[in-house]
Amino acid sequence: MTDVVIIGGGVIGLAIAREASRSGLETIVLEKNERAGDDTSSRNSGVIHAGIYYPENFLKTSLCVKGNKLLYEYALAKKINHKKYGKYIISSNPSEEAKLKKIFKQAIKNKVEIYEADSDRVKENNPGLIFKSALFSPSSGVIDVPEYVTALEGDIQHFGGLISLKTSFLSAARENGLFRINCESDQKFSITSKFLINCSGLSSEINLSSIAGFQKKDIYKNYYAKGHYFKYSGKAPFSNLIYPISGQHSLGIHVGFDLAGGMRFGPDIEFVKKIDYSFDENLKDKFLNSISQYWPEINPDKLHPDYTGIRPKITKPNEPMQDFNIQTKNHHGLERLINLQGIESPGLTSSLAIGKYVNNLLMQDVQ
Ligand SMILES: Cc1cc2nc3c(=O)[nH]c(=O)nc-3n(C[C@H](O)[C@H](O)[C@H](O)COP(=O)(O)OP(=O)(O)OC[C@H]3O[C@@H](n4cnc5c(N)ncnc54)[C@H](O)[C@@H]3O)c2cc1C
Repeated sequence: MTDVVIIGGGVIGLAIAREASRSGLETIVLEKNERAGDDTSSRNSGVIHAGIYYPENFLKTSLCVKGNKLLYEYALAKKINHKKYGKYIISSNPSEEAKLKKIFKQAIKNKVEIYEADSDRVKENNPGLIFKSALFSPSSGVIDVPEYVTALEGDIQHFGGLISLKTSFLSAARENGLFRINCESDQKFSITSKFLINCSGLSSEINLSSIAGFQKKDIYKNYYAKGHYFKYSGKAPFSNLIYPISGQHSLGIHVGFDLAGGMRFGPDIEFVKKIDYSFDENLKDKFLNSISQYWPEINPDKLHPDYTGIRPKITKPNEPMQDFNIQTKNHHGLERLINLQGIESPGLTSSLAIGKYVNNLLMQDVQ
């Protein structure tokens, strides 16, 4: 018998568990993998976003803007490796100028710090970059995700919570006002809990369909949008994150960094049918073509396969961007069940803010 069971030990489940256990709720995280944060949470750009692109009334915006500040504060307090690189969003041709202006206006509406960049300064810090004009976002940066995951795990344990690794959620049903949750590690067992929270990312659709009473109409179908990253060997000529104008479903093949200063490019986007992290090396030409639009001096021999990630989308390729979906009983009718779906980018940035948001929902219902 416990207060809260969380399905999924990615950054979202861990950030919620940190807040819940800090509030005095006995909390258990179920994570099927050997380590926490090994799925989408480790297969991303590691960028701390500013909250520029999304409509001002989206949860994505408010949680990203809050999460950005919280994540920098947390990284400082916990000595997590991170760097505020700053980011340039660049237009490469006249047709992208209007899009850049639109992004600028949206950032202002979202109350995000943004500037029209001084071209000489951009070139000075990023020699070889070809662009027409650029915006500068000073609060964009990069965080070491494994260190962040470890810090969250430490906090959860400190506040008395439990992360049960190699433990799969199988099914749940309500019994006498509580959840009976069936799990499997070495053997099958069940837990009784007052609250159940689903944040199982790419597997959320299948897990939700195993919760008795959760109606099919309330479950978003999961669409898998795969992205590849290529790393660039040798010294990075750029000092800032560089983002070309984005598409509908991704932020374009951008320039990112690891915290050792190594430069990488990606992710691209392709909707796939199953979760498969294999790397398609044939994409190198597509990457070279795209990168050389803004960096013609790229040396193809220095571009090497790195890793892939899969965005947990709840939209089809031709549908417009969706907000984070955080459902309570008001949406699905089940008391004390909180369901998170579609927590794609900027989920890493927003994680601490999502933790607080969901904990507030829990506290409204605690007796
Ligand atoms: C290519 C790419 C680039 C991105 N770039 C950025 C970025 O730069 N900045 C940013 O802010 N965000 C970025 N994101 C988004 C960010 O990575 C995600 O929003 C975030 O990691 C989601 O975390 P999560 O905890 O919801 O999911 P996950 O990390 O996937 O965690 C879900 C967990 O649930 C577990 N699970 C599933 N089913 C079960 C079960 N039955 N029993 C037990 N456990 C289960 C899984 O094993 C997994 O560990 C990017 C995402 C992608 C794919």
